Order: sequence, then C-alpha cells, then structure tokens
Amino acid sequence: MARPLIAEIDLDALRHNYRLACECSPLSRSVAVIKADAYGHGAVACARALEDIAPAFAVACIEEAVALREAGITAPIVLLEGIFSVDELPQVDALGLWMAVHSDWQVDALLGQRLSRPVPVWLKVDSGMHRLGFSPERAETVWQRLAAAPEQACDLHLMSHFATADLVDGSYFKRQLAQLESLSERLGAPLCLANSPATLAHPEAHGAWNRPGVMLYGSDPLEMPNALTSQLLPVMTLRSAIIAVRELPAGEPVGYGGRWVTPRPSRIGVVAAGYGDGYDRHAVDGTPVLVAGQRTVIAGKVSMDMLTVDITDIPEADIGSEVVLWGRSANGEVLSVDEVARHCDTISYTLLTGVLPRVPRRYHGAS
Ligand SMILES: *Cc1c(COP(=O)(O)O)cnc(C)c1O
Repeated sequence: MARPLIAEIDLDALRHNYRLACECSPLSRSVAVIKADAYGHGAVACARALEDIAPAFAVACIEEAVALREAGITAPIVLLEGIFSVDELPQVDALGLWMAVHSDWQVDALLGQRLSRPVPVWLKVDSGMHRLGFSPERAETVWQRLAAAPEQACDLHLMSHFATADLVDGSYFKRQLAQLESLSERLGAPLCLANSPATLAHPEAHGAWNRPGVMLYGSDPLEMPNALTSQLLPVMTLRSAIIAVRELPAGEPVGYGGRWVTPRPSRIGVVAAGYGDGYDRHAVDGTPVLVAGQRTVIAGKVSMDMLTVDITDIPEADIGSEVVLWGRSANGEVLSVDEVARHCDTISYTLLTGVLPRVPRRYHGAS
C-alpha cells in the first residue's frame, strides 16, 4: 500500500464553476485563469477539461504557455504580465499567444519586432492597484501608439486589476472603476477588468472579457456572503488517512513543543499529511478536518510528514479511516479550503498553490 495522501481533482466541478462564472456575466467572455499550474490543480488537465467551453486561458509567464502548447492546447493563451525579456517575442509569435503590456520597454519591443502576424494586446492600466500598468493618462498615449501599428498589435483591450473587489467596503473599487470607464469611453476601448470577486459581486465591472481565477477551483473569494458563491463546488480534495492511533490520559502534550495538551483522556489520530506536502504549518489547534466524514480538529503542531487530530468523539475512527484536509469526504460532507485558510492566517490561494509535488494528483470527471 502506498502512502494514503492524494489530491483528488474533480474536473466536473471545475467545469461547473467555470459555467457559473459565464452565467453571472452573460455578455462577457471569460478567460480561464490557470496560472501557477492552475492554482495547484494541474494546468494541462484543467485546460483539457475546459477546452470546449473556455475561449481562452491566462497564465503568468511564457513557460506556462509553452507547457500548454506542448500538451496540445490550441486555444488562445494570454500572458497576464506580458514578456519578461525581449527574446520571448519570437515564441509569442510562433505559439500565437496574446500578451498584456504594462511597460514602455514591452511596447518598444513589440513594435520593433518582425512578426508573422499581429499580436492581440491587452494594455495594462494602473487604476489604483499600483503594481503593474500605465497611469490612465499615459495609457491614452500608449493606446494610440499601438493602434497606429496594426501589423504589430491587434484586438486591443484595456486591462486593469482591482485591489479591493473582495471587500465589503466598495469605495476604492468604485474609484478604480470610474477611472477605467472614463478612459474606455475616451478611447472607445473594450475592457477586461474582473477577477473572481468582481465577476461574482460587481456586474458593473464586467467587460468584453473577465478573468476569473480562484472561483474556478471552488474557493469563495468574497468577504461578504453572496448567493452565487454558495453554488461553487470544491475542485480539490486533499485526502489522507489515519495511520496510527494514540490513547492518552489527560495532561499529555502532543507533538513538537507540546503545544496541545490533552484536556481529558483522548484518542489522537496520526494523519499522513504535513508541511512537507504543503499543508500549512501555521494551522492552529482547532483547525477543522474531516475524519470518517465528521468534523474534528487538529491537535498539536503540524510536522513535516504527519499531523495529529483529536478523534476522541469519533469512536469509529481508526487506522485507515478517511481524513479530508479540505474538500469533500466520501459521505458528501464538505470542508472548504477557505475555512481552513482562515485558521492558518492565510488565503485559499496559498494553500491550493502550496500542495507540493510529493502529493499525487488523481483526476476524475470531464472525460
Ligand atoms: C491571478 C489573476 C487573476 C485571477 O484572480 P482571482 O482572484 O484568482 O480570480 C486575474 N487577473 C490577473 C491579472 C491575475 O494576475
């Protein structure tokens, strides 16, 4: 028997979530964001599962695009940060990629390159995130420059990223959107703005294209409750099993540093999963897990290859019992990765992208 830890990926759930992104924005097209190996789910498998319903994919860098092309993915692929060096441009051309441009040197490189066909370009505007992009004033000039070079750049869109679309307080979001709307009006430019939170909660920000990412994997990106997010399905189930059981009297410390001490005579389940698999070491005592389909909690610090859970109140739990770290258990019980993330003082994104190669991925659905 192999070590029981696996990451099970439900490709039907991925398709369901992608369709939900499309349904809440019927006038937009949705580029499926599958950067960072599809947030840890496997970019090639996810692209294949979405190929017949998603008109385009988005990645962070050319290496990610190359891997998709080599796997036979023929759909348009957008480089969300464009190129990182001029020598990537021949590959952009050869692979038929689309690119964001956020800096003058990228525009200079594009306009100076001999190309077999013009590159579809998303001009990145800094409307308030203050990370990448041209200021709205500069963007106007750059847009005109690109528009005057139809042999080099085509299908121009304005792209921008929201800093606070997930928050209840919408004031900064509104300020960003207002800037973009006025710029888009002046240029007659189609927009590509919405990430997952804006796709779900801000229809006023839906453009010609949206860019949903984390919602495709079933994570709720919003601070506020929303009827749509309750329809998202978890895509990854991080599943393991109990490999040993300890019966301890009250007052016994468990694990490194003895952080957790048995408050009563306790049964402790030892689970094959640790930070060496990507399970967050910041998980506090009380972080939820499902054992045999029932909720219980982590008791003691996470080790590299193991963690310990309190199974005192689950008498049927024993060696071999199923443990779900997040996702869906065999009996249908769901533990959301968002809830686990809150106990680790982080967000679902880091937990999902953090599942390490040691954990085998097993795919089902969408065949
Ligand atoms: C990652 C990313 C997205 C997707 O964001 P989510 O919050 O995962 O929906 C959208 N746009 C850009 C530019 C990104 O880098």
